[in-house]
Amino acid sequence: MTDTMAPVRPGKLIINGQAVDAASGKTFTTYNPATEEPLCAVAEASAEDVDRAVQAARAAFESGPWPKLKASERQRLLWRLAELIEKNADEIARLETLDNGKPIFESRQIDLPMVVNTFQYFAGWVTKLAGETLPVSPAFFTYTLREPIGVVGAIIPWNFPMIMVGWKVAPALAAGNTVVLKPAELTPLSALRIGELAIEAGLPPGVFNVVSGKGSVAGEAMVRHPGIDKISFTGSTEVGRHIMKTAADTMKKLTLELGGKSPNIVFADADLDAAIRGATTGIFYGKGEVCAAGSRLLVDSSIYDEFVARLVERAKKMAPADPLDPKTRLGALVSKDQMNKVLGYVDTGRKEGARVVAGGERQAVNGKGWFVQATVLDGVDNRMRVAQEEIFGPVLSVIRFDGVDDAVRQANAIDFGLAAGVWTTNVKQAHAVARRIRAGTVWINTYNFYDPGMPFGGYKQSGFGRDLGPDSLRDVTQVKSVWVSTE
Ligand code: NDP
Repeated sequence: MTDTMAPVRPGKLIINGQAVDAASGKTFTTYNPATEEPLCAVAEASAEDVDRAVQAARAAFESGPWPKLKASERQRLLWRLAELIEKNADEIARLETLDNGKPIFESRQIDLPMVVNTFQYFAGWVTKLAGETLPVSPAFFTYTLREPIGVVGAIIPWNFPMIMVGWKVAPALAAGNTVVLKPAELTPLSALRIGELAIEAGLPPGVFNVVSGKGSVAGEAMVRHPGIDKISFTGSTEVGRHIMKTAADTMKKLTLELGGKSPNIVFADADLDAAIRGATTGIFYGKGEVCAAGSRLLVDSSIYDEFVARLVERAKKMAPADPLDPKTRLGALVSKDQMNKVLGYVDTGRKEGARVVAGGERQAVNGKGWFVQATVLDGVDNRMRVAQEEIFGPVLSVIRFDGVDDAVRQANAIDFGLAAGVWTTNVKQAHAVARRIRAGTVWINTYNFYDPGMPFGGYKQSGFGRDLGPDSLRDVTQVKSVWVSTE
């Protein structure tokens, strides 16, 4: 029994430790993609609200209790926030599914634990971030301090809203920064709820602010604001490029995690049962609205026909269904626009000469919703648009290759470089190919695994900088060299 009708509380901005309305009083509506119905009104931040949030974050960074806390106290606060997220897991996961359309199985069993683990992992780092003592000359005592950058502006997308809160906010706070976060207008609810929990956890006012609103208004105001020292962005390559240009005026530091069109390569000697599972989850997990989705499946010619036949059989069984049903594995796309964009790409594929061998259509659930069938495009050439552009939906482009060199050549023949998969039982080949692929993550005989301890980010036009792992802490800190004369 689903409860999509249960009311969702209106969303308020989180500024300076308080849940507040927008200064203008304006709100926007967020929708349930599975029912096409409004969920609730959400405060719409303007440049004025962004400025209020930045002032609060600056004050918290420069003169609040935050910089004076003992590392162990900051650690305890992050851990406390993790505990509160876990305590409210069912509520947050439900909000995420209602707002985004993803299956509750993913929100509750995968995304929510990832957020909790991310805050716990970075809580552990708070007491371990250290500078170095460097031997330069007997005439000096020389050491480095690893210091926070200041106010970090986090701009996040709609595909993994709560996970992105963890990935952007936890390392920034662990390193002693303060944060202003803008969730995507399509999916603001989980971030606003975590913002409320941060107040409950006892984070000092202004340390973590959430400004829901439009990218072109609130996002743009953040990127231009001189009080923000760094922007950490995840989203489209197009907006990433725009942010990079705009941020130049105030010389902001940047982490950009952008699009992908990741190759998932199946060699003839692979464990085919595992590879079929990996190819399927690689694209249909998260409805394919996943930056690292294995959306280009490269299959060796000698097994191509058999592999595609088995893949099609599996895809046809993956019917879209009610996202709140725990058995559902394919939810609704985030918006009508996104659904139309995805269906438009299926048409483009047909026109380019690909064959739609599974799915390819909208499929309403209970007569409603922005659902698209699990879709497989066969006979794709790597130069087609459906092979080169990010579709961001449950659409798999299958491409043939002949031998290792051809696989690597086609895998790398693209502007993106976010992730890749390699399926083979040959250990030497697996590692050799992993080295030759130009991507920030390579999964061997698995796909779509993430952990707070493993860095994630792009090569080439998939961006730069890293979320997660020790590397992400380098991206939210700066190094100060201190010289002390000893003579
Ligand atoms: P965007 O890149 O537009 O959105 C990402 C975030 O940036 C959102 O919070 C958005 O705000 C914000 N934003 C938009 N414009 C600006 C701006 N001028 N200045 C500052 N922030 C801004 O992605 P879309 O939602 O438009 O999706 C479009 C396509 O991008 C998708 O179809 C997909 O192909 C790709 N995409 C890739 C993602 C990835 O993880 N690689 C994630 C999301 C999308 P708001 O949405 O509120 O306007």
